[in-house]
Amino acid sequence: MSTIAGGRAARRQTMRAIRPRRSPAVPLLVALWAGAAGVIWMWWSNTPSIADNSGRILNAGRITGLLAGYLMALVVLQMARVPALERRVGSDRVARWHAMTGRYTICLVLAHLFLTMWGYALQAGTGLGGIVQQTVDSVQQLPDVGKAAIGAGLLLLIGLISIGPIRRRLSYDLWYHVHLLTYAATYLSFWHQLSTGNEFVAQAWARTAWYALYGSVTALVIWYRIITPIRLNMRHRLRVEAVVEETPGIVSVLMTGRKLHRMGAAAGQFFRWRFLAPGMRFSSHPYSLSAAPRPNMLRITVKAIGDHSSALRDLRPGTRVWAEGPYGALTADRRSRGKVLLVAGGVGITPMRALFETLPGAAGDLTLLYRANSTQDLALWDELAQIAEERGARLMYAVNSPEGERPDISADTLRRKLPDIDRHDVFMCGPPGFAQQVYEALRGAGVPARRIHHESFEM
Ligand SMILES: Cc1cc2nc3c(=O)[nH]c(=O)nc-3n(C[C@H](O)[C@H](O)[C@H](O)COP(=O)(O)OP(=O)(O)OC[C@H]3O[C@@H](n4cnc5c(N)ncnc54)[C@H](O)[C@@H]3O)c2cc1C
Repeated sequence: MSTIAGGRAARRQTMRAIRPRRSPAVPLLVALWAGAAGVIWMWWSNTPSIADNSGRILNAGRITGLLAGYLMALVVLQMARVPALERRVGSDRVARWHAMTGRYTICLVLAHLFLTMWGYALQAGTGLGGIVQQTVDSVQQLPDVGKAAIGAGLLLLIGLISIGPIRRRLSYDLWYHVHLLTYAATYLSFWHQLSTGNEFVAQAWARTAWYALYGSVTALVIWYRIITPIRLNMRHRLRVEAVVEETPGIVSVLMTGRKLHRMGAAAGQFFRWRFLAPGMRFSSHPYSLSAAPRPNMLRITVKAIGDHSSALRDLRPGTRVWAEGPYGALTADRRSRGKVLLVAGGVGITPMRALFETLPGAAGDLTLLYRANSTQDLALWDELAQIAEERGARLMYAVNSPEGERPDISADTLRRKLPDIDRHDVFMCGPPGFAQQVYEALRGAGVPARRIHHESFEM
């Protein structure tokens, strides 16, 4: 449990707490491009001179296939819940990388399919018109290509349900479980790469490199997605202690367990929670800690928007809980300044509430701005007011007018409320539209982008 000091001690504690960690995003991107260059080298080192048009098209097919295979491994790696990615880059940023890499992978797979079949069709003298027949022949005759075709179909399905308007119509559970088919797609497409890719058939070192790439990704997935959660839950044995209604439609779930301070969780982070109650066993949903983790208590606060979040209200004390985490990089070590502004939109208050309680700071260092539709929607308001009073922090809210007019959160308003806003770090959590509007206002008020730390509940 963190203790909050006052006066000079608080100032000293704040200065000690300010050790911003560099995000490993840039070295990771460099490594990604270096890997892609290595893949191109793999193709180049095994390509004699290209004589004709069909050769050029087939080689374009080979390059796109190799790059698709490489990106496929990265797509799985990005979802392996590797702590260095989840906690230092940030889960939502990794999820955006994952979505982008997934899109490129699907485009490359389609290009690979089209170019390879077109190249074969040209060699057979049938041209573009023979592509369909070539595809059927390849699936029937070439080793492992049938399995790869099923893998490509699964990838397309996953890409389809990730398109914005379709995604928004699906429940989180359906979207999540269909996404797990990525593992099947990866497995099914892996073997045809080795059995039909020229570079792998001809070069033992290329085969070894490919096995090493896919083998290490598989090991990371098994370690972080299976073994680590088993160890965590065996050790801490979480159970529901109580469910408390905060405002209509928003409940807090309090959980007890053994030595919870050893879970390594920090204010601002989230877990994926599976409640072992009837009808909920197969659903695991992300919710942030809404209070600093205590040795014997964790708390989440959840707004009911669908099946899972609504069912939490009916959880009984004693229900076993399976948690995976902690994840997320919206933590105190992002901070680079003494003064901090926390901005919460709606239920985005949950990680902000935990940070408001725990971020080291002297009186006047912390400000929390809480946006909601109405004062009735300001969940956790009483405890926020109490924390503000105890810590000498500022608490402000922005709600719609009685006529439903939205409050003005512009650069001018922010500067009026906090004249030294450009000397603050800002931590923010809220819906994407709200986050974008506040981000622009903050930039307009002179806060550098590197000091705006944002995580969204979108995934
Ligand atoms: C890192 C993270 C932390 C979160 N922390 C909290 C928290 O502290 N408190 C809280 O109340 N909520 C939080 N959420 C959101 C919460 O996970 C979802 O509201 C919940 O899982 C929805 O499940 P459901 O079965 O109730 O709704 P569903 O029936 O699955 O969904 C209802 C509607 O909401 C959409 N939707 C659901 N989940 C998401 C999502 N993650 N992204 C985009 N659209 C979605 C669906 O497309 C659907 O239209 C968090 C999400 C993330 C990613």
